[in-house]
Amino acid sequence: MMERVADGLLERLERGPVICAEGYLFELERRGYVQAGPFVPEVVLDHPEVVAQLHRDFVHAGSDVVEAFTYYAHREKMRIVGKEHLLETLNRQALAIASEIAAETGSLSAGDICNTNLFADDGASRRTVRRMFEEQVGWAAEVGVDFVIAETFSHVEEALIALDVIKQAGFPAVVTVCLHQGPTTRDGLTPEDACRRLEDAGADVVGLNCGRGPATMLPVVKAIRQAVSGHVAALPVPYRTHDEAPTFQSLRDPDDTSIPGGMPFPTALDPFACNRYEIAEFAREAHDAGIDYLGLCCGAGPHHIRSLAEALGRTPPASSYSPDMSKHAYFGTDESLKAENLEFAEEL
Ligand SMILES: [Zn+2]
Repeated sequence: MMERVADGLLERLERGPVICAEGYLFELERRGYVQAGPFVPEVVLDHPEVVAQLHRDFVHAGSDVVEAFTYYAHREKMRIVGKEHLLETLNRQALAIASEIAAETGSLSAGDICNTNLFADDGASRRTVRRMFEEQVGWAAEVGVDFVIAETFSHVEEALIALDVIKQAGFPAVVTVCLHQGPTTRDGLTPEDACRRLEDAGADVVGLNCGRGPATMLPVVKAIRQAVSGHVAALPVPYRTHDEAPTFQSLRDPDDTSIPGGMPFPTALDPFACNRYEIAEFAREAHDAGIDYLGLCCGAGPHHIRSLAEALGRTPPASSYSPDMSKHAYFGTDESLKAENLEFAEEL
């Protein structure tokens, strides 16, 4: 077992960029352990070994952070699958798994809270939302994490409540907003103003995650970089979004009539996936722009994270297996390869 490093999130950010793999729901949905639709991480209780291995896979690929799989493990999401009674057990288990794998690998462990889908900008919903954050952050504090992530907020006002709860518990806070098709948050702020407000309220890292792919997130996070003074986060979904379809929910595949409902999100996005080289380009461009908390959200696999890490000059353990086509039997260049196979390559 590796020695747990003493440096926390902020110390690591002072030294250079921090990489955080997200998107566990999509990855485990593909593997058959999460149901698309509700998207509740029941896998934490049903197959904890699968969650632990996913954490290991992402650290192996270059993630500096093991994020407890408590995304959408809040009271409202547990209610809709009829398992509200398992809320605390699931949260504690997810936090324990993340702490264990972080300790095992020398990574940072993070608690995680997110949009509740109950925020309505009135007193009653504000109190409800705050209670939901308090119980989840409270369990994170009891189990022990290095920092807490609050993510995918459409309403900045809801993100501010999450931030307040995290700061009151004494944790460094990474707070990311999810920008949809329009140019502003759901409560009408520009992303720059949203992040400025979050930074002014004490967030240690501010930025965007989920929703948008690299092409439609990069210009926005660059503007955020100019608007705030602290650390900036960019964790897009690894899909080829563009000006006419800036989010992965808005992507359409008119040539494919097989998709139920005609909407590729969330289960038929495969043809839109970014390849690893596109992710490397995103990482370089974001890093050059001064964005220093980098990762990927829904749709990301370990191969994407390895490519992102290598673009930042890292050599995570998975780099031992990075491609070397020189040794390919038909397309390679190694002198010991059979000439007749190399000549046959054009027929493949
Ligand atoms: Zn996501």
